[in-house]
Amino acid sequence: MKIPSTEVIIVGAGFSGIAAAKKLHEAGISFKILEARDRIGGRVYTRYLQEDLYLDLGGQWIGPTQDRMYELCKEYGISYFETFDEGKNILNLRGKIRTYKGIIPKMDPISLINLDILMRKLERMAKKIDVHAPWAHPKASTWDQITLEAFLRKNSKTKSCYEVIKVGCETIFACELHEISLLHSLFYIRSGTSLDSLINIQEGAQQHRIIGGMQGIAEAMAAPFRDQIQFESPVDKIIQGANQLQVISGEQQIDTNHVILTVPPPLLKKIHFEPGLSEEKNKLLENYPMGRVGKCFMIYDRPFWRDKQFSGQVVSDDPRSHQTVFDCSPADGKYGILMGFTIGNRADDYFSKNEESRKAQMLNQLTQYFGEEAKNPIRYIDFSMSDEPWSKGCYAGLIPTGAWSTWRDAYRKSEGNLHFAGTEAATVWHGYIEGAVRAGETAALKINQKIQKESL
Ligand SMILES: Cc1cc2nc3c(=O)[nH]c(=O)nc-3n(C[C@H](O)[C@H](O)[C@H](O)COP(=O)(O)OP(=O)(O)OC[C@H]3O[C@@H](n4cnc5c(N)ncnc54)[C@H](O)[C@@H]3O)c2cc1C
Repeated sequence: MKIPSTEVIIVGAGFSGIAAAKKLHEAGISFKILEARDRIGGRVYTRYLQEDLYLDLGGQWIGPTQDRMYELCKEYGISYFETFDEGKNILNLRGKIRTYKGIIPKMDPISLINLDILMRKLERMAKKIDVHAPWAHPKASTWDQITLEAFLRKNSKTKSCYEVIKVGCETIFACELHEISLLHSLFYIRSGTSLDSLINIQEGAQQHRIIGGMQGIAEAMAAPFRDQIQFESPVDKIIQGANQLQVISGEQQIDTNHVILTVPPPLLKKIHFEPGLSEEKNKLLENYPMGRVGKCFMIYDRPFWRDKQFSGQVVSDDPRSHQTVFDCSPADGKYGILMGFTIGNRADDYFSKNEESRKAQMLNQLTQYFGEEAKNPIRYIDFSMSDEPWSKGCYAGLIPTGAWSTWRDAYRKSEGNLHFAGTEAATVWHGYIEGAVRAGETAALKINQKIQKESL
């Protein structure tokens, strides 16, 4: 009998892989993590420009009901701070720039009522979705046949209402709205508690940022088992035999009893499985692209817009601009940082230009919004995970029409001793870091229970 070199192989050292490893480590189960990149964090990536200045180029916010994230902060003594959210917000709608307070932009009364009714409708529909089985809702097959875009168009009686809800949803889902089904949108909303929760800063998913950057949490979690992470080791092939599995990365072959896969869907599709994955999982993977979003940071020597009572937040329907802008300055306000999201087709267009043009384009917008002082940044940096071979896009995988009804929970179902984690396998906070952590922990728990059962 061949002795396995390790009980579990985890593929990917993003939050999901690290969370799974943490649970296995605590349970005393041997494991190894194979990571394609030369760093941990995956879609979370904190880049330090200097000792007192860092940017979260990937995931950065946490908010209420993301209980595991707050527990991890507590466990490792990592501090977080309130996202700056005081003062006037800006709406750039059909060429007109105006200011407003709170979360609902200033529009004509009919559009405002329409927007409120539409948001409440989405909220009501999402509330009835069972996140473990979205396909089980009585109207699931109808909702799965239409795109989110078609639904919003049908229910928007004015152009302004449509444009505002469109930009809001693009920022939540990081895609063009015809790329996802209405059913997936409702599942995603319910999975993240509510639409209010996904949109809001206060009491919402954007409430807190991590001192030192989000990657610091993953680093702290991984510290006790860092030597068990093998970097620059993309997994190419997994052979599942009767009793054991063989994981192949380049020249290396490792025998193991269980594998946890945490990679994004398009990269899962690239791994060669012998025997192949189930037909349902393969079919789902054939049509499971990633969202497209770029984060663009304009860095100033101070957050000058706060002097003029601006929050730094912008919502814009102008296709040449960022959909949304946020104040991403450090907790102490030592520097001023405005971060713009460019999403979907706007992101494709933006990143087809060279860096100088991208900077000029953003500077031009920020000057319109915040005045002449915006013309003098100390630095501009942007980043898109669509260009990253080990992410292929962000924030998460996109589930198109028909997929939930047809393939149901095929993505997260274990196949033999192959276990599927990553945020795309999450039912709660799907698409978010919290979801990645929960899915990783669930996979580790499953394996632990199996081992316990086998040892009886
Ligand atoms: C711009 C942006 C903003 C975001 N904002 C937020 C936010 O504010 N809050 C929030 O909660 N979420 C946010 N998200 C989403 C969040 O970052 C992700 O949901 C989460 O990080 C996913 O973690 P994961 O472990 O599931 O996957 P990943 O982080 O993608 O980890 C998978 C790992 O697998 C590795 N890998 C891939 N293929 C292979 C292979 N063949 N072999 C070995 N290794 C492989 C990858 O290198 C990667 O490290 C954002 C994402 C982006 C990009």
